[in-house]
Amino acid sequence: VDTQGNTTFKRLPTNQLVEALQLGIQYSVGGLEARQAHDVLFQDFLAVEITHFPKAGRTMPKATPPHRFNDFTMRTYAPVAFRHFREKFNIKPADYLASINRPFRELKNPGASGSLFYLTADDEFIIKTVQKKEAEFLKTLLPGYYMNIIQNQRTLLPKFFGLYCYQVTEFLPRNKRGAGENKNIRITVMNNLIPSHVQIHEKYDLKGSTYKRRANSVERQKESPTWKDLDFIDRHPQGFFLDADTFSALEKTVERDCRVLASFHIMDYSFLIGVHRIDQSPESPSTPATPVGMLIELILACLSSLPSFQDPFSPKPKRMIYSTPMDNIQAQFDEQNKPDEHLVKAGGIPARTADGQKLSLYVGIIDILQSYQLRKKLEHTLKSVVTDGTQISVTHPSYYSERFRKFLFHTVFKQIPQKASKVKDDIS
Ligand code: ATP
Ligand code: CA
Ligand code: CA
Repeated sequence: VDTQGNTTFKRLPTNQLVEALQLGIQYSVGGLEARQAHDVLFQDFLAVEITHFPKAGRTMPKATPPHRFNDFTMRTYAPVAFRHFREKFNIKPADYLASINRPFRELKNPGASGSLFYLTADDEFIIKTVQKKEAEFLKTLLPGYYMNIIQNQRTLLPKFFGLYCYQVTEFLPRNKRGAGENKNIRITVMNNLIPSHVQIHEKYDLKGSTYKRRANSVERQKESPTWKDLDFIDRHPQGFFLDADTFSALEKTVERDCRVLASFHIMDYSFLIGVHRIDQSPESPSTPATPVGMLIELILACLSSLPSFQDPFSPKPKRMIYSTPMDNIQAQFDEQNKPDEHLVKAGGIPARTADGQKLSLYVGIIDILQSYQLRKKLEHTLKSVVTDGTQISVTHPSYYSERFRKFLFHTVFKQIPQKASKVKDDIS
């Protein structure tokens, strides 16, 4: 926050960043529409589209609108490749623009990196600023990432829908000769894992490490803190129980995803869990069985079939394919224990606590743009001398992935033991 009370990032007002981004994306996606779709070529991963947005706007070679900020430049990385990714996940250009063009909500980032996070008004996308190293790494990751989603769209890995760079020239007073300094802010657009139409009672960011893995005092003060590994163990020493099929679907998905991550020497990623406690949910009203109740239900049902009526209890229609955790791990709801309709649509993973409380979990892997090869080597050598080298979160990628999965599937998630009668049925 600067002296005038504006929120700033790299000394730039953030509203400027957001509006410039909205303008830039609109321009880029609009321009792509005119270009014919073709198969993705290798060059498409390397392409960069550069557009200048002078304050006064311009008409040549292609019109850009006037705006109220200083001149800026937007770079859109691999526009054709990202368009293809968006298509793969069923995001139409008009939908993407509609999401991007409404005001963003700023999220308070519990991370240490200082990245800014925004959520689009429709809850669909997370916009995150990333460091130069991370942006560079995402660029090199694109062909492999593409290979991965072609082979397998059911994944808990982050879905990247765009990579942009906003550039302004800053003229500092101390720079007397008028030479400006270029500022670059790199931005990724990804899928949002935590729905806001379902109340999230607890949130965990888990790595499988115990070293410094406890939410700090600032985080704990927040209305909805992001808890870490040690907090999870304190709060749920017995973990979350999943039925056998769901457990194995989740485990297989994470295993496959981790193999991809390790193959790119990626580490330090987290498993994010948003926990919705079904019994405490005010938004799942019990079905009234009285005649009046039934009449109200009927009226609601009629109204909700009208296109303009939005029932506040029903989740928004799903736009992306494979956008819910249950879709992503390719599991089906157990017919006998199906949660109510609005939770089925929201697609959270059904689970229970040790004392039988019903949960619906929203999960995914996040923060995957750190490659061991790029930066971590030195850090590891240093830290492993100080500690025993196994409990710190900076370790070798394949070791990291192994510890991550072990924590998730031994400590966090447990299989509900099959009932004796069910086992007998299966045998007979
Ligand atoms: P650090 O590198 O210090 O860990 P960071 O700035 O890179 O932090 P992330 O680890 O990517 O940030 O995310 C920080 C928090 O933001 C997560 O713990 C989670 O609460 C939230 N978050 C991140 N990505 C998503 C997402 N795709 N959907 C919902 N919430 C997210
Ligand atoms: Ca992180
Ligand atoms: Ca990070």
